[in-house]
Amino acid sequence: MSDLITRAGLTPRFWEKKPLKKMSPTEWEALCDGCGKCCLNKLEDEDTEEVALTRVACRLLDDATCLCTHYENRHQFVPDCIVLKPENLDTHAYWMPQTCAYRLLWQGKPLPEWHPLISGTQDSVHAAGISVQGQTVSEFDTPFEEWEDHIIEEPT
Ligand code: SF4
Ligand code: SF4
Repeated sequence: MSDLITRAGLTPRFWEKKPLKKMSPTEWEALCDGCGKCCLNKLEDEDTEEVALTRVACRLLDDATCLCTHYENRHQFVPDCIVLKPENLDTHAYWMPQTCAYRLLWQGKPLPEWHPLISGTQDSVHAAGISVQGQTVSEFDTPFEEWEDHIIEEPT
């Protein structure tokens, strides 16, 4: 999600010791594994709340790094980009990717071994096939009417 995820200097395995609502802003941001999946556009059935993931990426997503190219000032370009916080996780968890660290911890599950906080490297997310690296198309080039043709299964 972020263009610069700081993970240095944090208490080892802090996510196992602190509840989400007690984490510092740096700890909270460090939970993001940088998979880029939450930056893919989704199609939602309003009646059933069923969410389909597409490979059509937000205009700010870098397909190579899977990070946001303007994270700090992204709302200038994408005003409706959600700011995920402990207080609104209950509202958003249902559509978050299955492997998303925020969702996993919210569900009381552990982080996977490929998570950069455990592996020590961002590359493990790509190597595990979890990220969207090299798999997206731009929303600039893909009209909304065609999004249905780009529905994908979540990489897990
Ligand atoms: S899905 Fe979760 S872990 Fe992946 S980039 Fe988005 S916030 Fe980060
Ligand atoms: S602006 Fe787009 S790329 Fe950046 S965090 Fe939001 S959804 Fe992801």
